[in-house]
Amino acid sequence: MSPSRAPRAALAAAAVLALSLTACGTDSDVAEDGELRIVTTVAPITSITAAVAGNRATIDGLVPEGTNSHTFEPPPSASALLERADLVLVNGLRLEEPTVELAEATMSEDGRLVELGTEVLPESDYLYDFSFPEEDGKPNPHLWTDPTWAIRYAELVHENLVHLDPEGEATYDANLASFEEQATELSDALRADQESVPADERVLLTYHDAYAYFAETYDWQVIGAIQPEDFAEPTPKEVARLIDQVREQEVPTIFGSEVFPSDALEEIGRATGARYEDTLRDDDLPGAPGDPEHSWLGLMRSNYVTMLTGLGGSAPTLEALDDGDTDLLREELGDLLMQVVFHAAVAADTGEGWDVDDVAAGITDKLVRRNPHVFADGTARTPEEIDAAWQAVKAQEKAASGAREAHPLDGIARDLPALATARKALDRVPDLDTSGDDLGSRLLRLVAEAREQGVDAEEALRRAVRDRLA
Ligand SMILES: [Zn+2]
Repeated sequence: MSPSRAPRAALAAAAVLALSLTACGTDSDVAEDGELRIVTTVAPITSITAAVAGNRATIDGLVPEGTNSHTFEPPPSASALLERADLVLVNGLRLEEPTVELAEATMSEDGRLVELGTEVLPESDYLYDFSFPEEDGKPNPHLWTDPTWAIRYAELVHENLVHLDPEGEATYDANLASFEEQATELSDALRADQESVPADERVLLTYHDAYAYFAETYDWQVIGAIQPEDFAEPTPKEVARLIDQVREQEVPTIFGSEVFPSDALEEIGRATGARYEDTLRDDDLPGAPGDPEHSWLGLMRSNYVTMLTGLGGSAPTLEALDDGDTDLLREELGDLLMQVVFHAAVAADTGEGWDVDDVAAGITDKLVRRNPHVFADGTARTPEEIDAAWQAVKAQEKAASGAREAHPLDGIARDLPALATARKALDRVPDLDTSGDDLGSRLLRLVAEAREQGVDAEEALRRAVRDRLA
């Protein structure tokens, strides 16, 4: 029996009530009051819609961030928004059925309901899996985690906006072009950075499989999603099977999200030694409203960086992506250049034996050594050859520094924030001595406490500061 049956009856009652209100209420019409009203559901769709609509529309997202969108039931207050909406944009593919039902029952005659995913994805391309079994007829609905599909969503949003508000066409054209450019840059950056993880190691074990379509496009392998269709914990047999698979494929990191805490993933992590990284985001945007990263682009960039670094790769291209604020970038580059010149001048003055020319020579050597197929006469052409050459260079560099003993912080970026560094150190040395009364030791104990509770201290502190300044 469907768990959502009982609330549906209540929804139907609310819908009938809303209908009777509409009958004597005012008609919503774009032309009449000049304001375009759009209602959306999950945050990524709200963000894509806002990117195309710019300031020509009022947009209300119904699903609060950090909510399980798959079981979301719209509150009664949603009726009023849906009733006045000129355009209701949902993901579709049966993700938001209660909301669609309410919209169909509540919207005015002039209102238009568009199921983006259902419109762009041919039925022959529907993906079914453990969490979304074919016999239920509900395909995996997560198209937006794949930039190529997100662009299709934006195009469809554009088409509908132009239809409803032809006067805004030039604005919508420009906004769509800019979104497409950003999404394409994100896609290109992902393809560049994922070369740092060998193709057969791009494996995802997640609690909630939001990456089925992404995996097809970018050639990743989803080895499992352990969320059963009813959001219960998986059976011990299924957990045992996944433990075997993680061991067999030597998967370094398995992924979850704070919206879907999972004891089973923690158990698989403990049993296999794989790290459990619970910071993937399905549809809650990073940062605070108004921040550049509080967007579809920021969401996906953050997830790809988490996935690549979790699997032992690096993500410099993704991290360097321009999120629209180049003034800030210019200022930061200036600060960095100032540091380079300053330290080089000090080193030259104090007779360290090097100056700014040596700094430049060092980075030139490194670039040539690591990318001989670009800067020297290396012959690697295919991605496989480039990967093989890269592995050889890494092995050489490791051998060259082999005299030095391995340190627990090896491979951790030196400029990583201190709380994040402490967290990584604790991941590697869980029984690290945290005693001491000085401020540093006390902070370290707080990070350890956060880690035990599955909370990211860095993120928690940032959020606490942001919330207070919001
Ligand atoms: Zn989801």
